[in-house]
Amino acid sequence: MNILLIGSGGREHALARSLSASPLCSKLLIAPGNPGTAQYGTNVALDVADHRAVIDFCRVMGIGFVVVGPEAPLVAGLVDDLKGAGIKAFGPSRAAAQLEGSKAFTKDLCAEFGIPTAAYRRFTDAEAAKAYVRSYGAPIVVKADGLAAGKGVVVALSFEEAEAAIDMMIGGGLGAAGAEVVIEAFLEGEEASFFALCDGTRAIPFGTAQDHKRVFDGDEGPNTGGMGAYSPAAVLTPELQARVMREIIEPTLAGMKARGMPYTGILYAGLMLTKAGPQLIEYNARLGDPETQVLLPRLRSDLVAALLAACDGALDGVSLQWSDAAALTVVMAAKGYPGAVEKGSEIRGLAQAEALNDVIVFHAGTKQDGDRILAHGGRVLNVTALGSTITEAQRRAYDAVDRIDWPEGFCRRDIGWRAVERERA
Ligand code: ATP
Repeated sequence: MNILLIGSGGREHALARSLSASPLCSKLLIAPGNPGTAQYGTNVALDVADHRAVIDFCRVMGIGFVVVGPEAPLVAGLVDDLKGAGIKAFGPSRAAAQLEGSKAFTKDLCAEFGIPTAAYRRFTDAEAAKAYVRSYGAPIVVKADGLAAGKGVVVALSFEEAEAAIDMMIGGGLGAAGAEVVIEAFLEGEEASFFALCDGTRAIPFGTAQDHKRVFDGDEGPNTGGMGAYSPAAVLTPELQARVMREIIEPTLAGMKARGMPYTGILYAGLMLTKAGPQLIEYNARLGDPETQVLLPRLRSDLVAALLAACDGALDGVSLQWSDAAALTVVMAAKGYPGAVEKGSEIRGLAQAEALNDVIVFHAGTKQDGDRILAHGGRVLNVTALGSTITEAQRRAYDAVDRIDWPEGFCRRDIGWRAVERERA
């Protein structure tokens, strides 16, 4: 079948690689794609915000299956519109994508269905929110309800910090996304990510990972979209994973179904592993970026077959095979990221990096210029390696990074440090 993949980041390069490897995929098209996805299919310039144009394109090109990578088209209802036009599409409906699009929606669902998460209150009035914070004390967490590209969460260590966050969000600093805020208790523990593939009724585990949000080594500096990740996350033991399925994922699916918005797609749970057990920090309604770049290279089963089974409500009896190898990815970003960056610097040495065993360089923000590859964004490359341990994958990934000649870029040098410390112990 012909498949259309929506998106243009490192996640989509990793998806393109796995989708194109399936015997079920005859032709892969990617909209808009990047120079990395072009190695596995044909990039097409298509305005994915124009759902009518996407539907027409699918009809003309005989697309049998659409896979949506990023959250924005999901929240905009692309999957609903494609399905309405009789085109099979992977990802949640607009209503179900509220699990990512609205923190207030998710917190209310957790409260109703007994899913462990931090205690919370919702506010649209700044004075009421501040009075609550004053009565509660710090540390406390202030979150904008809607999507805010990673800028919508403030972990406030003092009352003043919480107050400033409330004023900024309800005052319109994040646009409509901050008109309502969720204020929640501060949770202590280690963070980890758990992924599940869902068919509306059933869920099967889709791997674990740990990412690195802060821009500098030692988890210092501002938050980013993610500076690196590794999989599996050993901190999520098989017992904890079973508990996450039972206490968090399955009640969420049951709750969504009861609300008349069954969840189909990847459910990505950001977890805090507290002394009292795993607690849900947030849901994402799609695969993570850069987590996908460490999940998919470990997947042995056919990705297309698995995603189709989820779409068809047919995950019963499906079990996925994973490699025992560990995977680790290092994000190379343009200097200045997560602030303003300059585009257009040339990147050399990609072929030398990829010549190493078990190394894949995923493109995230690059542009092809003749036979040159230029930086074209904040996060630019995801240098990924497999190994028998995280320590080995880390060494290989940094060997590959060191072969890349790009003076205008930088990366963290400590991706995977928690796992490496655990493996050393
Ligand atoms: P993302 O960019 O991952 O989608 P987001 O903007 O949707 O993030 P969250 O994941 O909800 O926001 O929170 C961002 C970070 O803030 C978390 O990874 C975690 O480190 C911290 N955080 C969020 N909620 C809490 C909490 N209740 N207690 C402690 N830390 C928290």
